[in-house]
Amino acid sequence: EARNLSKKVIFNDQEIVILDDIDLEVSASSSLAVIGPSGSGKSTLLGILAGLDSPSSGEIFINKKPLHNLSEDARAKIRKDSVAFVFQNFELLAGLNALENVMLPIELKGKKNAKDIAENYLEKVGMQNRLTHYPQQLSGGEQQRVAIARAFACEADVLFCDEPTGNLDSSNSELIANLIFDTFMESSSALVIVTHDISLASRCDQKIELVDGKVL
Ligand code: ADP
Ligand code: MG
Repeated sequence: EARNLSKKVIFNDQEIVILDDIDLEVSASSSLAVIGPSGSGKSTLLGILAGLDSPSSGEIFINKKPLHNLSEDARAKIRKDSVAFVFQNFELLAGLNALENVMLPIELKGKKNAKDIAENYLEKVGMQNRLTHYPQQLSGGEQQRVAIARAFACEADVLFCDEPTGNLDSSNSELIANLIFDTFMESSSALVIVTHDISLASRCDQKIELVDGKVL
């Protein structure tokens, strides 16, 4: 849940309003699409909702826990426990293979059976035959499938996706969109997805459009 969320920065002695008084709410097992032109504040909003960045004013709650007034260390703990992220550029760790990339956040959560959980999610996304491939040995679509396995394997309260199909061709985009929604349907997470893909946005329960940092 976000209430009266604003983000302002000073840039070249001028105040820029990146987000202006945003309110939104997403329940467990439900989905929200965020659409809007480039530069409208979508990534900034997602980063703030996920605790990667802090707002200038306003309140954010994940599972009723306030996020807006926490220190960086406390936000890091909430990110570890409650949040997962899928990025446009996949953001897999280059020095880890597919299995290790998916296992890492599960291990950070202190779970004992990280390997079994990771293999299960990699199978869900059809990557069971690529477990020991490194990111540079995988296509873009395959890297995003690993990133989706990594995100869902966290079993987070909220899954954030920032243009998850933005760097993929149309057939891979459709595959990735289907994987996100199929896996989401089996999970109890809330899903917040930034996308330019109208068909992807129309599959979500709610949709908001940002223009110049405001909800239209
Ligand atoms: P979107 O994801 O919708 O394309 P962003 O959230 O990345 O938009 O950026 C929104 C606007 O805020 C852009 O005009 C961008 O240049 C500006 N912006 C983002 N972060 C900063 C910052 N740290 N300092 C100055 N301007 C920023
Ligand atoms: Mg963006």
